[in-house]
Amino acid sequence: MKGKRMMLCLLGGMMLCSGCAARREQAQQMLQQQKEEDRYDSMTLAMDTVINTTIYDERGEELLLEVEQEIQRLEGLFSVTKADSDISKLNANAGKEETALSEETYALLKTSKEISTETGGSFDITISPVVKLWGFTEEEHHVPSQTEIDQAMALVDEDQLLMEENNTAYLEEEGMAVDLGAIAKGYASDVVADLLRQEGVESALISLGGNLACIGTKPDGSLWEAALANPLDETDYVGLFQVSDCFLITSGGYQRYFEQDGKRYHHIIDPDTGYPAESGLLSVTILSEDGTKADALSTALFVMGLDRALDFWRNSDDFEAVLITEDGRVIATEGAAAVFSFEGRDNDFTYETVNR
Ligand code: AMP
Ligand code: MG
Repeated sequence: MKGKRMMLCLLGGMMLCSGCAARREQAQQMLQQQKEEDRYDSMTLAMDTVINTTIYDERGEELLLEVEQEIQRLEGLFSVTKADSDISKLNANAGKEETALSEETYALLKTSKEISTETGGSFDITISPVVKLWGFTEEEHHVPSQTEIDQAMALVDEDQLLMEENNTAYLEEEGMAVDLGAIAKGYASDVVADLLRQEGVESALISLGGNLACIGTKPDGSLWEAALANPLDETDYVGLFQVSDCFLITSGGYQRYFEQDGKRYHHIIDPDTGYPAESGLLSVTILSEDGTKADALSTALFVMGLDRALDFWRNSDDFEAVLITEDGRVIATEGAAAVFSFEGRDNDFTYETVNR
């Protein structure tokens, strides 16, 4: 009898447990379903690119609006084409007077200068006169003469961007200019990711052109999947990243270019030559927890080319990368390879992993 009662108790206990588990699972399913139903999407044009945002949160509608306003505010500070932006004022005052900037613009200029130093000048925001000369600022493309390139290159010198007291900056020579095109979208993705995290959002994706910010995980807790574009055919992809909470930022000559006399000229300029970088790379993707840095480095490593880029990675510990070369290699640093799969991809690329 004693044994029977115990048996019943145990069974009861087990039944109670499995009932609990079932209820918990049911509650989780309902929560997940609710989260998936709370999906809000938007597509806008800003910062010279298409911005797609997906937020899983019941306050999604108002959060999408906040994200949009924030990006517009940043565009208002950093744009090189809007006359009243901080950057346009700084450029217009070149060789004349100092410009008072917002704290944010000042800080981003400082960060840009630091990255310029770190990358040995492969990243250089004072490249603007050359970018403009090739027609990438106003989308009026032309192949400049060597004389024109020499003249524009004489105005490229990040040491002549002086960061003064009280958030003021000064470009020492008339005609000098800065262009934050290689870093501003990464910075914006950092700002927006912070905003959403502070609002308690656990699941969101923001794509600013080639820049992807992943916040948390998918609503069911699984990893986000992000495709790495095939630079030879943008309708195809060479592999998939599976990630959470990080930035994935790609720079590539295929993203913006024009053709003249059968030759392709892209928008990433080598500050050593004044010509579109011919580094043997088709694209560079940076994976990092720092969106600003990831953006600047995707551009810089593209300019550096494979060997210098891998040396740079070996001496850093805050990013991973996938580099695609003109001769058909997809090269992932070990940390990137760990979250990157190319199973089932049918293409002519060969895949390699490099270790530290
Ligand atoms: P991204 O798409 O991030 O690689 O940035 C490319 C944009 O940054 C170009 O459209 C130019 O406006 C600017 N840019 C081009 N070359 C450089 C460079 N070497 N360093 C910094 N900015 C650059
Ligand atoms: Mg960049």
